[in-house]
Amino acid sequence: MPPFRNPPREGAVDRFVRYVRIDTQSQEDQSTTPSTAKQWNLANLLVAELRELGVEDVRTSEHCMVYATIPATVPNADGLPTIGFIAHVDTSPAVSGADVHPVVHQNYRGGDIVLPKDPSQVITVAQHPLLAGLIGDDIITTDGTTLLGSDDKAGVATIMTMVDVLVKNPKIAHGRIAIAFTADEEIGTGIDKFDVQQFGADFAYTVDGGELGEISDETWSARLATVTFGGKSAHPGTAKGVMVNSIYAMAWYLTQMPHDMLPETTEDRVGFVHPYAGVADVQESSVKILLRDFEMAGLESKERLLRALAAAAVERFSGVSVRVDVKDNYKNMKEVLQHHPQLTQNAFEAARRAGIEPFLKPIRGGTDGSKLTFRGLPCPNIYTGGHEFHSKLEFNSRRGLEKTTETLVHLAQIFAER
Ligand SMILES: [Zn+2]
Repeated sequence: MPPFRNPPREGAVDRFVRYVRIDTQSQEDQSTTPSTAKQWNLANLLVAELRELGVEDVRTSEHCMVYATIPATVPNADGLPTIGFIAHVDTSPAVSGADVHPVVHQNYRGGDIVLPKDPSQVITVAQHPLLAGLIGDDIITTDGTTLLGSDDKAGVATIMTMVDVLVKNPKIAHGRIAIAFTADEEIGTGIDKFDVQQFGADFAYTVDGGELGEISDETWSARLATVTFGGKSAHPGTAKGVMVNSIYAMAWYLTQMPHDMLPETTEDRVGFVHPYAGVADVQESSVKILLRDFEMAGLESKERLLRALAAAAVERFSGVSVRVDVKDNYKNMKEVLQHHPQLTQNAFEAARRAGIEPFLKPIRGGTDGSKLTFRGLPCPNIYTGGHEFHSKLEFNSRRGLEKTTETLVHLAQIFAER
């Protein structure tokens, strides 16, 4: 049973298939936010739809952020926190988001799903064993030529449907709710233009996760090391006794990376070092290395290792110098969220009330929430029911969207109970 009597004007699935048809792809290396003007097409539509739903306090910023608040329904709401819900309107630059044609596979009977416009695109049971749990559900895919954009239009559609539900069911008890739709999440720059003050929430949830039940209160702590080896160039014809080739020092250095500490050999909670780009030249060679760990102590020890290996390279290759520059990228939001355990606990409770078994999943990456958390807006991430983000095989389902919507409505209620 959903936690409301009156159905919304429009269900989460119908909203979702409307929103995914709108191209909102963001683009790397732009100097403006939003990086692409077309993100306004969805942002402006959301503003109009919020107003149509009777939400009065709808604002946009020049950076394509949409903010709105829904007043409390309980008397004396002053003692209650304002809860925020955030989703992003843009889709990944990795795969085209133009002319998305969502396909609703009604009453899925099991088996592989071949996407109609490109039969080479197949969602297989072998690769997605969880398809077995979706039998009887309506699965939503693309036609095989684009991404779906469930990341994060599932978040947008479920938040909008939650608002619709709250408007249609004024008896649902909740405190003040703030919602926001943001731009340029996928390129990592939009959130810098997010106005935490103007949003006005005490904490928030990004609705931008995957499988039903998946709740995240942890991200990597992340650093970037640039290791630069200095040599001495000379004309190769007259280089004897003069040339010092820094390339050999860097090559040796790279072979010293521990095999069991690389992205290609680690998973779950195990961190890594990842040399991912570099320049090799006699005079100067340099490599950029990502350091990732959930624990600060683990991150520190990885940095010490990189520095010790650099010192060893200098010992080994006479005449070579080395410089190690390390900068912080972002920090594990758990550092802050551990002091707000009720945010995760209430998300778990909301999931259970929606009939979903919740579980914690650390994010092997960063989220908008990790930045917001350190800017004073504690912000765990919750599921949307989506799978295979940033690919043509991306999919979601009716149950995924409807259960996510229910979860959000329950969350709003739970905070008014305590
Ligand atoms: Zn996302």
